[in-house]
Amino acid sequence: MSTATVPHPLDAAGLSARFAESFGATPDGVWQAPGRVNLIGEHTDYNDGFVLPFAIDKTARVAVRVRSDSTVRLLSTFGDQGITTTDLTTLKPGTAKGWTKYPLGVLWSLQQRGIKVPGIDLILDSSVPLGAGLSSSHAIECAVVSALNELTGAGMSDEDMVLATQKAENDFVGAPTGIMDQSASLRGAKGHAVFLDCRDQHVELVPFEAEPAGLVMLVIDTKVSHSHADGGYAARRESCELGAQVMGVPALRDVSVSDLTEASGLLDELTFRRVRHVVTENDRVLATVELLSTAGPAAIGPLLDASHVSMRDDFEISCPELDLAVDTARSAGAIGARMTGGGFGGAAIALTPVEKERQVRDAVLKAFARAGLTTPDIFTVTPAQGALRLL
Ligand code: ADP
Ligand code: MG
Repeated sequence: MSTATVPHPLDAAGLSARFAESFGATPDGVWQAPGRVNLIGEHTDYNDGFVLPFAIDKTARVAVRVRSDSTVRLLSTFGDQGITTTDLTTLKPGTAKGWTKYPLGVLWSLQQRGIKVPGIDLILDSSVPLGAGLSSSHAIECAVVSALNELTGAGMSDEDMVLATQKAENDFVGAPTGIMDQSASLRGAKGHAVFLDCRDQHVELVPFEAEPAGLVMLVIDTKVSHSHADGGYAARRESCELGAQVMGVPALRDVSVSDLTEASGLLDELTFRRVRHVVTENDRVLATVELLSTAGPAAIGPLLDASHVSMRDDFEISCPELDLAVDTARSAGAIGARMTGGGFGGAAIALTPVEKERQVRDAVLKAFARAGLTTPDIFTVTPAQGALRLL
């Protein structure tokens, strides 16, 4: 799978024109939704905890036209698979192929909510690198749900749309994801990170701009995905559930750092380390939010570093490629770095002084070449606006 970063080949007007060429009519509108980077708060989402992602300046765009029948025609600008045609009445979990499972999953999920979904023609374009842990899948789903919410007049709130896309991913696509990605994609704002309480979906926008602080946020996509990722994720969730059960709380969110001494006496060694990651990570999210508001992004480096160490040693979801990216970026001048996303591959982030950017990029490329690894893709991201209508 290629994860090369490509700019949008088409702007909104271009996508609309492509739609007209392909479907013989102008679309009703063009919507976009971004991918996301998680600044901090990893594997805390399914523990009712805190996360701090931000929407990025890489987006999925859809041009959509409502039809008068129940036919759905889907086309994308990538690959040359042509138009996929299906019917709304036949949507069933586990049956859709490739990227089409994301828009179809959203249509299905809206049907499950009792929304009267019309047939549509849709063309998709995306600049979110896929499989890099930037949530290219949710970018598609959030663009589609935004379009359908408007076109059907369903009047869903952001919270409703978050749950609708989660249902699409969980029950139609079959990916056991939480609510972080879609919350960032739907609720993100330019120059801000999205502080999300996964227990009640409460969101606070926290100012986060690297540039005025003389920094850039680099993403290092290692392009590796280790085969034990799925099993590893399930095992981590089980450990967390066990930890909460033994501690007698609904979720690890309810365990605080000061409870850890007691936890170490109650839990087996492995479960304790898993719990310690989640508990300290929640604490680091809160500390990051506080620091961003009081001291700015230049102050959060040590928290990013501590997060990585916790994931590497306690939660054990890093991998040699991610560790190499993080360690090299730090040695070359980044002020903080961590793996981001579910782990076992994917991307790392490195908060880097502008004047050190070249040095960090070169050092990482060199280190990967020396280790005989696939050349990573390195690019900058900035906190961007969440889902919106373009045309
Ligand atoms: P992530 O969401 O972390 O990027 P996923 O495995 O959840 O990774 O989603 C990636 C899938 O989304 C791809 O396998 C593909 O089906 C679809 N997809 C997303 N963006 C694109 C794109 N630009 N080109 C082709 N497929 C895409
Ligand atoms: Mg995904």
